[in-house]
Amino acid sequence: MKDYFNEGDLVAVLTTQPLDRFLDYKAPAGGCHLGAFVEVPLGPRMVLGVVWAEGKGDFDLSRIRAVNKVLDLAPMQADMQVFLERAADYTLTPLSAMLRLATRAPGLTDPPSMRKVYRPGDSEPDRLTDARRRVMQALNDYGGLSFTLKELSEMAGVSASVVKGLVKQGVVREEEAPRDLPYPYLDPDLAGKDLTAEQDEAAEVLRQEIRSGAYSTTLLRGVTGSGKTEVYLEAVAECLRRRKQALVLLPEIALSAEFMARVEARFGARAAEWHSGVTMTERRRTWKMVGQGGAQIVVGARSALFLPFLDLGLIVVDEEHDTSYKQEDGVLYNARDMAVLRASLASAHVVLASATPSLESWTNAEAGKYEKLVLTSRFGSAVLPKMRALDMRDVQLPSTRWISPELARAVEARLEKGEQSLLFLNRRGFAPVTLCRACGEQIGCDHCDARMVEHRFIKRLVCHQCGETKPLPEACPSCGVEGRLAAVGPGVERLTEEATVLFPDARVATLSSDLFGSARALKERIASIAEGEADVIIGTQLVAKGHNFPLLTLVGVIDADLGLQGSDLRAAERTFQLMRQVSGRAGRADRPGEALLQTYQPEHPVIRSILAGDEERFWSAEAEERRHAAVPPFGRMAGIILSSPEIQDVFDLGSALARNDAPLRKIGAQVFGPAPAPIARIRGRHRVRMLVKAPKSVALQPAIAAWLSTVRLGKNIRVTVDIDPQSFY
Ligand code: ADP
Ligand code: ZN
Repeated sequence: MKDYFNEGDLVAVLTTQPLDRFLDYKAPAGGCHLGAFVEVPLGPRMVLGVVWAEGKGDFDLSRIRAVNKVLDLAPMQADMQVFLERAADYTLTPLSAMLRLATRAPGLTDPPSMRKVYRPGDSEPDRLTDARRRVMQALNDYGGLSFTLKELSEMAGVSASVVKGLVKQGVVREEEAPRDLPYPYLDPDLAGKDLTAEQDEAAEVLRQEIRSGAYSTTLLRGVTGSGKTEVYLEAVAECLRRRKQALVLLPEIALSAEFMARVEARFGARAAEWHSGVTMTERRRTWKMVGQGGAQIVVGARSALFLPFLDLGLIVVDEEHDTSYKQEDGVLYNARDMAVLRASLASAHVVLASATPSLESWTNAEAGKYEKLVLTSRFGSAVLPKMRALDMRDVQLPSTRWISPELARAVEARLEKGEQSLLFLNRRGFAPVTLCRACGEQIGCDHCDARMVEHRFIKRLVCHQCGETKPLPEACPSCGVEGRLAAVGPGVERLTEEATVLFPDARVATLSSDLFGSARALKERIASIAEGEADVIIGTQLVAKGHNFPLLTLVGVIDADLGLQGSDLRAAERTFQLMRQVSGRAGRADRPGEALLQTYQPEHPVIRSILAGDEERFWSAEAEERRHAAVPPFGRMAGIILSSPEIQDVFDLGSALARNDAPLRKIGAQVFGPAPAPIARIRGRHRVRMLVKAPKSVALQPAIAAWLSTVRLGKNIRVTVDIDPQSFY
């Protein structure tokens, strides 16, 4: 295919507008490259697009308009184009929606803008004050690099006028520079930590993979604290040595501060960051620099996969089993799977790191599709915590208490030694149910088929589905009786209340994603807790993910059975992962840890394998069950949600689809439903669910597309297809 178009040549442009086709334009004066980001007229507006291919010319030539301008951005790489196409096909999403994901940075259509920067000049100052000396020192420390006025005055701890004064004398030079500057150089050859023999062996395997320059995936398994991060940072280093870019995906942005510090310690400067907590300016800079090669490492959330890397050599998916890698809104994709796709097209390597891999990855490694590396021991003297079940059937607790006497004693023992305890409960808010003792009504959301959760810190009821809130009523909304509403069941806020009463002298900290106004506030709180500013930490799954709490020696799981309820295909896997992960928080440093699991079913096979720590056996058994049921990863699934404000419309459509299942039967797939979705109403829309089950090796997506095209969608009906669904709501 042509990769350059002269003025007037026809080009096919993919825009970010929801149109299901390419649009033909004429290349502008000066021509344009294949992959160029352009601004094109569409009706009365200008829209962003990419020159995707040669134009077809099957349109009245005289009516074809010209590309308005070629944007000052690196053209999209060929492998990125293919990636977006394949990802669109895989997720059954329009390509334009994929392009929107790939252009989510502000100001991409703006002309290149400049700003003033400062670097050392040639003259000497007439008079050397202390403040002036600090400015010159700061500049010299960085060997002639330029800084903005704000950066420089902050580094030197002086006011802007001091810098301006030095500019007048020619001691500091003021220059115009592009607004978006490359990121500082990261040096792969700075010394890393001395790896243990086991770590070094694993690192060497990864280095080899990087050197091969071909696609492959490695599953890097190892208990929390075994040094997986140290090991994959060596793969990153090798990638940098080969002048390629590395992307590290983290599941939780609250983790990124700690991780960014480790990257800086290893490579001597800060890497680029990409997630919702990053400022718009920084986002634009990262997006542009990734495309120009001015960013060697990006640390990011799942959407960083859609950045326009110039030459990608490595993608690390840390905590690869984490459910937050599945995007559950808009384009439904699993970043772990898309990372593998992206890398395979870019001839890059993938490292999937986890203490408790997903069954999908474990199976791929067993089958030899992925290479497998295992780190068996924790670094240093740290050992895995001792785990024990607390059988709650033997415990008589009042209905408003959840911490058993034995767990309370264990916490007290830690308090005496000045160590930290974590009480884990994966439930936000104060109480999951507000019940009227007079009529039995449970207060629900007006727009969703969900109960509202009391959040006492903000004194409101909150719907965890749609976010709607309302004040806690005095009287029951159903029977009108006053003063009989009761909170039933615990959330972390209620547990905090209990802990405050049980341990009156302890500093109790609650970590729940909804209790912090910003990612920054949450990060700061986590950092201060890690430094010892709390004795008892009460947390949701937020704390399960890789934070280092060196003083933590006890983990108490309030309700180990919570995840085992419900019919979710992955309930056992999730519980296993979460319990192992949370327990791994204890005893990281030189203090041995203990994990106590409160449970009403200590004989449950999942609880037993958690306690036994026999991971291979758990995965083998779980794999066997799934193989037997022909469900993922041994079969394929797709969830289809039909929604509409009119309940009859969605059921009619569902029934029509169920009748028209020929395209699915042709590939040996079955369709189940329509049935009310587990949450039958969200935001006032009724939801009906269909489930497609298919054998592993069939072409599922084209069959689903053909199947869905057999029906006509009425007004206000929405169809969402979720390939490989992770959650069933
Ligand atoms: P994981 O990613 O498996 O949880 P980390 O890489 O975070 O493990 O290692 C746990 C802790 O041990 C970190 O503080 C890390 O810096 C430290 N550590 C691991 N390996 C080494 C090593 N070889 N030398 C020094 N410190 C190490
Ligand atoms: Zn709601």
